[in-house]
Amino acid sequence: MSIETKGESKLFAAPMRNASRRRQGCAERAQSILMPQRMQRPKLGQHFLASPTAQAAIADALGDVAQRTVVEIGPGRGAITALMAARAQRLIAIELDRDLAPRLRQQFADRPSVEIVTQDILAIDFSALRGNEGEKLLVVGNLPYYITSDILLRLFRYHAIIDRAVIMIQREVADRIAAHPGSSDYGILSATTQMYACVETLLTLPPTAFSPPPQVHSTVLRLTMAPRFEELQVAPEEFLAFVRTCFAQKRKMLAKNLRNAGHDAAAIAAAFESCQISPQARAEEVDLEKIACVFRALPR
Ligand code: SAM
Repeated sequence: MSIETKGESKLFAAPMRNASRRRQGCAERAQSILMPQRMQRPKLGQHFLASPTAQAAIADALGDVAQRTVVEIGPGRGAITALMAARAQRLIAIELDRDLAPRLRQQFADRPSVEIVTQDILAIDFSALRGNEGEKLLVVGNLPYYITSDILLRLFRYHAIIDRAVIMIQREVADRIAAHPGSSDYGILSATTQMYACVETLLTLPPTAFSPPPQVHSTVLRLTMAPRFEELQVAPEEFLAFVRTCFAQKRKMLAKNLRNAGHDAAAIAAAFESCQISPQARAEEVDLEKIACVFRALPR
C-alpha cells in the first residue's frame, strides 16, 4: 500500500505488507476545531494521530460498518472517531481522560449514533455494549501503548463477540504479534494472539505522523477473530498456560523448559518423537500445531 499526500512523504515507512500467511482468507487531523489545544497526558499514552491519510486507512481497514456497532478504544481528540461516526450505525468510544471525554461529547452532540463512555477500557464489559445478544462488535483504536498487552488480553477474553479489530500499536510489539515460527520475534505474544486471531500487518507510521511524536514507529494490525482451540483440540486456559511454559526461557530448548516445569523426561522424548519435533528444538521454532500435539501427548 503506497499512500502519499501533501506533507506526508515517507509517512508509510513500511507500505502494506503481506497478510499473515498462516491461513488464507483472513482476510482532518481529527483534532476538532471545537477542541482547543491542551496539554497532553503522556502517562495516558496520548500521541494523537495527525495524518488524515493514516486516519482514513485505519477506518477503511475496518471494512463496511454501515450496519455495525463499532467500539473505539481511546478516541482522544476524535481523529478516528470523526470518520467512524460518519460511517457506523453505532459508535461507542471509550476514553479514560476526564477532560477529553466531555469535549468529545460536545463535538459529537449532533450525532445520536455516537456514545462517549468515560471509563478505563480494561474495565469494559464488551458484551454489555451489544445492541442484541447475537451481535458481533468491531473494534478500532490507536491504542495507549502502555497497556497494549492488557487490551489484547481483554479483546481475546471477548473474542466470541468480536469480529475483528484494527489497532495501532508500537511497531516492535506488532512485529512480535505477527511473527511466524522460526523468527526471533516469535514468542508468547505471537502464539497467544495467533490462537485467537488471524493477524494482518497493514501499515507502519513514523513518529512524525503523531502529535506529539512518540519515540517509536507505529504499526496498524488487523486481527480477525478466528480461535483455533477446537481445531487443535486443546482447552484454552490450560493450553495457553502450557504455551507460557514452553516459552519460559525462550532461548533454551523446548524440552528443557518442559523438564523445568516438572514434565517427565521420557514422556517429553516420546511426545517429541510422535509429534516429529527435534529433541533440540527451541519453542520459537515450533509451530502451534506441534505445540498442541505435545500438549495433547504429555500426561497431565
Ligand atoms: N485515537 C486518538 C488518536 O488517534 O489521535 C488518540 C490515541 S492516543 C494514542 C490513546 C488514547 O487512549 C488517549 O486519548 C488516552 O487518553 C486514551 N487512554 C489511555 N488509557 C486509556 C484507558 N485505560 N482506557 C481508555 N482510554 C485510554
